Amino acid sequence: MPQRTFSIIKPDAVRKGYTGAILAELDRAGFRIVAAKKQSISKPQAEGFYHVHKERPFFGDLCTFMSSGPLFLMVLEKDNAIADLRKLMGATNPANAEEGTIRKKFAGSIQENAIHGSDAEETAAFEIGYWFAGYELI
Ligand code: GDP
Repeated sequence: MPQRTFSIIKPDAVRKGYTGAILAELDRAGFRIVAAKKQSISKPQAEGFYHVHKERPFFGDLCTFMSSGPLFLMVLEKDNAIADLRKLMGATNPANAEEGTIRKKFAGSIQENAIHGSDAEETAAFEIGYWFAGYELI
């Protein structure tokens, strides 16, 4: 059964010109793009998206970073999409990311780490609904 997940190519990777290369990695791994849009987001929008992290010490910096420039929002689909994307992304801190992962190749730091991927079915549902309307999912 195909499963949907939500992903973001973060502002650091867009700024560095890695969008196409990251899309190619996702394509090679078998993800279908259900929906995608490049846009800038406001800090309050970032705060709403990352609300589960609001008590973490890096919350303010993270939301400033996410609203610092255009990013690429995506809904992706494949069998086992959520776990497979997490594996392809690699560890949060690129210093700990496995060889061949997107973060190993493209991330600059624990914060500016190139890509987001939902970590569970409930978060994927929230995150898809936060950024996309039903009619955009085709
Ligand atoms: P993810 O699921 O691998 O993206 O990691 P988390 O859900 O734990 O954190 C969300 C995002 O917050 C990460 O992708 C990073 O951009 C950022 N982040 C996580 N940990 C740290 C940290 O210790 N310091 C800073 N500055 N940012 C962090």
